[in-house]
Parts: sequence; C-alpha cells; structure tokens
Amino acid sequence: MKLALIGFGQAGGKVVDEFLSFDEAIGGGFIESAVAVNSATTDLHGLERVPQANRVLIGQARVKGHGVGADNELGAAVTEEDIDEIQGAIDRIPVHEIDAFLIVAGMGGGTGSGGAPVLASHLRRIYSQPVFGLGILPAMDEGGIYTLNAARSFQTFVREVDNLLVFDNDVWRSAGESVADGYGRINREIVERFGLLFAAGEVGHGDHIAESVVDSSEIINTLNDGVSTIGYASETVEPSSDGLLSTFKSDDGFDEGQATNRMTSLVRKATLGRLTLPCDVGSADRGLVVATGPPEHLNRKGVERGRQWLEDETGSMEIRGGDYPIPHRDEVGSIVLLSGVTDVPRIEQLQQVAIEAKDRTETLQATAEEEFTSLVDTGGELDALF
Ligand code: GDP
Repeated sequence: MKLALIGFGQAGGKVVDEFLSFDEAIGGGFIESAVAVNSATTDLHGLERVPQANRVLIGQARVKGHGVGADNELGAAVTEEDIDEIQGAIDRIPVHEIDAFLIVAGMGGGTGSGGAPVLASHLRRIYSQPVFGLGILPAMDEGGIYTLNAARSFQTFVREVDNLLVFDNDVWRSAGESVADGYGRINREIVERFGLLFAAGEVGHGDHIAESVVDSSEIINTLNDGVSTIGYASETVEPSSDGLLSTFKSDDGFDEGQATNRMTSLVRKATLGRLTLPCDVGSADRGLVVATGPPEHLNRKGVERGRQWLEDETGSMEIRGGDYPIPHRDEVGSIVLLSGVTDVPRIEQLQQVAIEAKDRTETLQATAEEEFTSLVDTGGELDALF
C-alpha cells in the first residue's frame, strides 16, 4: 500500500530515513512521500534520505531550533502552534495517491511524544484516508520521565489514530551494545517488519504473479482500530534465477510439501517468537498472515494452514492471509500482524511505573518547596530588601 510517512522527533525521523532505505533495497515502492518534523535543527540536519524540502522545523519562536528537551507538553503545544508549517509540507504530497498516513515517533521524548498525537488528530479531521501511528516505547532503564512521557503519549496517540502499531525498545535491546549501534540495528528490525507488511499491499499488476497477493484494503481492515503488534520469522533459501512459481518447478524436484511445512512453521515461529510489542496472542481481535520471499517458495497451502492455526490460537474468525512475492530475495519469511490486542503486560507495567514516577515527582516538588521556604525564611527576624 502507498503511504505518506511522517517522522516526528528524532527517533521518528531516523526510522523514516531507514524506511526509505529499506523501500529502495526491496524495490517495494510503498512510500509515496516522506516528511520529517522536529523542533531541533541538528536532528533534521542529521537525516540522510528525507528530502530537504520535506524537513519541517517547528517551535522556532519558542525554542529557537534547540528542541523541547523531554517536555512533551511543550512538544504538543509547539505542534499546535505550527500546524500550518506541517500542513504546508503535507500539501506537497499527492494525497489522492496514498492509502494511508503513518506517523512514526518515539513516545518517551518530547517533540514526537507530544506532537505526533496532535498531528494525527489534525490529519484525521482533514483527510478521509486512515491515519496510523507507529509508536516506539522507551527501554525501562531510560528513567521515570521517559516512562511517564510514553505512558501519557500512548494514551493520547492511541485515541487519535486509526490504529497504533507499537514497537518496544525494551525487548529489542542487546546487552553490551552502544546506544548508537543499538538504535541502528533496532531501526533495521523495525523497518523490516513494518516495511514488509506495508510493501505487501503494494504488489502491482506488472509484478510477479503471486498465488494470492495481499491487498491494501486487507491491511487497512485488519488494522481497523486499537493497538497492533507484529511478529516475523524467516529462513535463508536459494533464490532461483528465473523466479518461477513452484507449480512450474515440480519437474525440477521442488518439494511442495516441504514448502508447505516450512511456511506453516514460520507462521508459528513469527507468532510465538519475539513480537514488536509482546502480548497474549489470544487477546488479538484480528490478524493477517503474509508469506514473503521468492515466488517459487511461496505456497498457498502453507499460508492457509498457518492462517487456520492462527485462528485457533487467537479464537478470532477475522484472520486474513496472503503472499508478498519478492523475486531474488534469499529469505523466505512470514509476517504476522496481530491487531486489537488487549492483554499487554508491558503497557500495564509502563503505566504503573509512570504513576509511581508522577507521585514521586509531586512529593519531591512539594518537599523541595518546603525546604526552600525554610532555607530562605528567617521567621520574621530579617526583612527582604523590597
Ligand atoms: P524527540 O526528538 O523529543 O521526539 O525525542 P527522541 O525521539 O529523541 O526520543 C524519544 C525516545 O525514542 C527515547 O526515549 C528512546 O527510547 C527512543 N529513541 C531515540 N532514538 C531512537 C532510534 O533511533 N531508534 C529507536 N528505536 N528509538 C529511539
């Protein structure tokens, strides 16, 4: 499906940059336009692929290009004030060509955390296309303010978008990795999963004939509303030079049964392995299974079996399935999108820690005020100058 991507804040911009690189690498063509919005000039300069003309600096009057710190209320306020600047960039997008908007933001910071929900609300008022969010949760050790920001932003963002796709940094960190290396790797993991999903709905008529391609409306209907998470599993395969469908390859001894079994187990691995947001799979309301890879390795029976297994696992009758053929790729894989998930321990934990952080901050503030008063106050023994 064709997307207008908007990266909000530093994390949002970097992930959109990575999406552009991934789209080019797989020849996906799922990004119609990419825009980056930030209140910090240096973050906008640091981007590599988002076109210069599509980089929007907001909040100049208040923060003079220095960013909002981790103040997401300020992030929301400067977005409201400068919404016309952002709209100016959106006006250059051929909106009639897109299937949806996708706003990407780190939820623990200031600009993206506060601004992304404001922009989502604005876009939904103006356009008929769905507005999706991709929200990145902070790692737990980032500290109370990031957790509190993320919990408040989550609550607001999920209300303002048609669906909030979530990625949790906490479960994707590796020990011993520097922050910069870590984000580089994590961002590639993010775009591979979400990129393959959105590219799947963008198979044109001239492309390889898939057994049953996924349509953009199937992705949109699966997303519908609520919160989503994605699983992905893949195996390396030998891509054939001609990229013919498996049915034409039986003479060469291509094992159809093996392809079916492989796809079925890839669907299970994707679902039961590491999700972008870990959750109880049984709580999903809707699902979509997408088989990706060289067309000769895609197999309808495998997807169908995987789809049925996911129906049993979730108890949902709304599980869709289809193919996304990528000729000459050396991996066959399965994307599993679980939507409308409700049993998400990480969100509960995030909210709990955020409430504790808020209470602690309020207590500390009250104590600090008292202590300051007692530091300055002499009980009437001395008078101030004026
Ligand atoms: P903003 O610029 O004020 O919107 O804030 P940032 O986007 O810098 O940071 C917000 C949160 O995003 C941080 O708490 C991190 O958890 C996360 N973050 C920052 N940079 C990256 C990145 O490149 N990738 C990922 N996955 N997360 C990031």
